[in-house]
Amino acid sequence: MRRSFPLCLAVLLAVSSFVSNTLRGQEAVPADAPYKSAGLPVEKRVADLLRRMTIEEKAKMLAGSGWMESAAIDRLGIPAIEMADGPLGVRSWAGSSAVTNLPGGPLTVLSTSFPSGVAMAAAWDTDLVKREGQAIAQEVKALGRDMILGPTVNIDRVPLWGRNFEGYGEDPYLSSRLGVAYIQGVQGEGVIPSVKHFAANNEEFERHRIDEKIDARTLHEIYLPAFKAAVQDADVWTVMSAYNKVNGTYCAENAALLTGILKKEFGFKGFVISDWGSTYSTAGTVNAGMDLEMPGGAPARAMIASPRSQLSGNSGAWLEADKVLAEVKAGRISEATLNDNVSRILRVIFLSGLFDHSHAAGGEVDTPAQQAVARQGATEGIVLLKNAGGLLPLDPAKIHSIAVIGPNAAVARTGGGGSSLVRSKYSVSPLDGIRQRAGSGIEVKYALGAVMEGETPALETQATKATLLAEAMNAAAHADVAIVVVGRYSKLEAESFDVKTMDLPAGQDWLIDAVEQVNPHTIVVLNTGDPVTMTKWLDKTQALLDMWYGGQEGGHALASILFGDANPSGKLPVSFPKKFEDSPAYGHYPGENLHVDYAEGIYVGYRYFDTKNVEPQFPFGFGLSYTGFEYSGLSVTPKIFGNAPIQVRLKVKNTGTRDGAEVVQLYVHDGHAKIDRPVRELKGFQRVELKAGETRTVTFTLDRAALSYWSPEKKDWVAEPGTFEIQVGASSRDIRLKAPLELVRQTKPLKLGNE
Ligand code: BGC
Repeated sequence: MRRSFPLCLAVLLAVSSFVSNTLRGQEAVPADAPYKSAGLPVEKRVADLLRRMTIEEKAKMLAGSGWMESAAIDRLGIPAIEMADGPLGVRSWAGSSAVTNLPGGPLTVLSTSFPSGVAMAAAWDTDLVKREGQAIAQEVKALGRDMILGPTVNIDRVPLWGRNFEGYGEDPYLSSRLGVAYIQGVQGEGVIPSVKHFAANNEEFERHRIDEKIDARTLHEIYLPAFKAAVQDADVWTVMSAYNKVNGTYCAENAALLTGILKKEFGFKGFVISDWGSTYSTAGTVNAGMDLEMPGGAPARAMIASPRSQLSGNSGAWLEADKVLAEVKAGRISEATLNDNVSRILRVIFLSGLFDHSHAAGGEVDTPAQQAVARQGATEGIVLLKNAGGLLPLDPAKIHSIAVIGPNAAVARTGGGGSSLVRSKYSVSPLDGIRQRAGSGIEVKYALGAVMEGETPALETQATKATLLAEAMNAAAHADVAIVVVGRYSKLEAESFDVKTMDLPAGQDWLIDAVEQVNPHTIVVLNTGDPVTMTKWLDKTQALLDMWYGGQEGGHALASILFGDANPSGKLPVSFPKKFEDSPAYGHYPGENLHVDYAEGIYVGYRYFDTKNVEPQFPFGFGLSYTGFEYSGLSVTPKIFGNAPIQVRLKVKNTGTRDGAEVVQLYVHDGHAKIDRPVRELKGFQRVELKAGETRTVTFTLDRAALSYWSPEKKDWVAEPGTFEIQVGASSRDIRLKAPLELVRQTKPLKLGNE
């Protein structure tokens, strides 16, 4: 009896407040109600509006009203938030990608296709990513929408993750800075971003069922920093939860993640939105900290009823108003919780300006300015991985013919597949780009060489394959230079499944080998989002470029790098293992019986390769240029006390005869911590444009957070007093300058909090 009393009381209270709440709906809303005044502080508007809402209206706001729309409350003038998929441009909101990716789908939306996230990451250019965010937000508004579902900041843990192309690579610091830049660009335009997927969406294999075991230190040091930065450095308005489970609980109902870490530890004030069809309970989800379930209404019900969703494990429609109200009545969801959920949604509606002025459609998309951002990203993101014998840049005065070969040569592979694939008004393939640039003085021949797996099954016969290979060899043999463009495409590298193998599909290794045998002047161009194995041909390859999925301007960008109109400046945002077996998560992926143990812990990417002395094919941060850079004169604040800033200064000189850009990388080495630490961790970077012969001083200001690790014992960030080393270089394996830095022991312990 005694035990059930509090529950009875809670139910009684819930029912009585329910009745009084319902009555509120009958009160008329004055035309000058404070919440309508754009001049009032947002929190006052939220409080005023919230107190006028009935409990039914509040409950209604917790689920979407359609595939990409939240619920409107017309009586109070609360608009629906109209969303569009991203993050690589604006996508159709008419339904799931399975529908909208079909050519001639129900609602065609053509917009600028920006380079993939990994390509943008390879540019290491925060200003550019901010401008990309701005451009995308302008297109969102032009199309009459309010919200873009991006950026994706999940870490590249495994080279086979189907969505690696969407994110910013393997490093939490780089991902944090780029995620923040994207969000600032979007929010600056009054458009709502959604940083996704919280947390640790690092494989697509069984993404609706997989349970990931991740220790607290690894979460804090690797998988959460980009979300924390989004909250603390960009004040992000929304966060999308992930499909997977973390430590036994679905992310959508993971109180430790959503409330404990995101809302309390990080101080997130916006709303959490579920990934599409990722909820499995009503009270559990709401009480864990979910604010808005998507999709909603009829599309949600249709989705969960579909055999495809049932097979994959999608689930949803748990936060429909009647289900939420029943739980409120039963006392399992408190009104305070509901108020918090609704306040968060209202806060974003006010902050973004959406309440005061809706985004009327009709503006322009794919403007020259937006195209220029896409082109700059595609160009800066191209990484020159090998240039033996100075084959590149091509000299038009000396070249009379080029053979452009490969299944990715004549088609613009703008991005990977799934909800991020943008349909653009135009796109430039590598072949188009090269032809345009070559002009009439150079003969450009084309040969398919190999059939992309699954694209044209009728051509996938042994006889056709042999003919195509012979044609490619013939074209290459009769050209001054051969350019082989290889990779995958949106049906092999996509959301909802992982890439089968690190090897190139469709016999492209043979194609490269065959072309190289007949033409020593062969340039290989990778057009993928993931690293691929290259051991079969790399030794013989003279020149190698990675253009990733470069968006609609990829072909122009490639041609400008090949001909030296632009100097390559991209650097790998991800280590390239020689083979899959060398990658840190090997043996701990994709997991067994729907469980995957992140047993490699914090040793992800270069943290693993560099600490455990495993030779990668190409290291993190690596990329060549047509010019050279010299680093000198490193000076570092020698001693710091407490939270004093650390000043780092050095000179970088362009030693060649071409203008170029260098990405100067700053790593911290901690050799004295009580706990194992990676030999180096990226804590700063700067892209520096230098004219031929020019020298510039580069400065960094670090704080104590750059020295800290997350201590499982203290459950907090800790910087241990002692001598650190500041390392500056051109990749994680090309450290040019080093200097010590002493963190002086304090007599009184210093509380670091949310470093
Ligand atoms: C993806 C999200 C996407 C959502 C809406 C999900 O399948 O994981 O990234 O925003 O669909 O299309």
